[in-house]
Amino acid sequence: MKRVYNFSAGPAVLPESVLKKVQEELLSYQGSGMSVMELSHRSSLFEAIIQDAEALLRKLMHIPSNYHVLFLQGGASLQFDMIPRNLVREGERVGFIHTGSWSEKAIQAAQEFSAIEVEELASSADKNFSYIPDFPLLSEDYAYVHLTTNNTIEGTTIYEIPNYGEVPIVADMSSNILSSDYDIHQFGLIYAGAQKNIGPAGLTIVIIRDDLVGRVQGIPKILDYQTHIKNGSMYNTPPTFAIYVAKLVFEWLDDLGGVSAMEVQNRKKAGLLYDYIDQSDFFRSPVLPRDRSLTNIPFQTISPELDKRFIEEAEAIGLVNLKGHRSVGGMRASLYNAFPQEGVEALISFMDKFAKVQKGGRVHV
Ligand code: PMP
Repeated sequence: MKRVYNFSAGPAVLPESVLKKVQEELLSYQGSGMSVMELSHRSSLFEAIIQDAEALLRKLMHIPSNYHVLFLQGGASLQFDMIPRNLVREGERVGFIHTGSWSEKAIQAAQEFSAIEVEELASSADKNFSYIPDFPLLSEDYAYVHLTTNNTIEGTTIYEIPNYGEVPIVADMSSNILSSDYDIHQFGLIYAGAQKNIGPAGLTIVIIRDDLVGRVQGIPKILDYQTHIKNGSMYNTPPTFAIYVAKLVFEWLDDLGGVSAMEVQNRKKAGLLYDYIDQSDFFRSPVLPRDRSLTNIPFQTISPELDKRFIEEAEAIGLVNLKGHRSVGGMRASLYNAFPQEGVEALISFMDKFAKVQKGGRVHV
């Protein structure tokens, strides 16, 4: 069966061995005669799956015991709303580091709460979010400071997390959770949609420090973290199949040596592509080298017309989903954990051929 190199930003490529395991177990999970999709979430078989998934995630991210791990739904987008609702008391202030389209969405959601003061502490909007701005010193008190560790659309990453003492850092880690090794102690809350580095869409991970739970009363029950903590992420039916696949991905990552081993591979994969782009006079990266993402790599040729042709020709040879986001243009190669190095090599080889043909005069550039 033909598989392609899938550069999608999400939902994204999954490890082939995980997909095969899913296939093997699809009709009868552990001799039950039922698919995981058909299991009750209250069954002992599913309870074991969710417990294993949590234990593995704790191991992979070195999550201390004073943090809760939640398996929720609603995507990272629901967290844009749940976080201010749960963490900010009336009249308190929240700070945002504004680094792209997704942080913008998080800011807009917080602004919906009229009792909350929302402040943009730093922004890279002046240069189309092509870099990470300096972090300011805090002169006021804040309920938390929000940042996006990896900007999926713009291709930048915050590698050094600011230390604001007692003020917790809340991080949207949707597009680099488990691909770069962060110290959990630096964060009060981490959240991520699963559909990039973890598993199928439909699952959202929230990791929240215990002292941040229960700050606000009177929240609608389903939007209150306390509800989900009390019910072990099973207040209502959880996304059972997505949690099962996530568990398999966690096992796969653990077998490969965990996040730090994966980060070495990710640096290698991204490094190959950046090195090629930087030595090329035909392709360019719009992102400041210091802040370049390992997981989402935007790049351009010398014209939008050639970008379009590049994407079409790449697709025809099985290098798919390379079209960049419309706000940045050009191409974007998303290289999540499950994306193989051979796929990066295939892309570079195609880029090289494409550039030679274009420069060779077939097309006037
Ligand atoms: N934050 C980031 C950094 C993202 O990349 C995305 C999705 N691409 C989101 C938030 C929104 O996630 P969801 O679609 O799961 O709500």
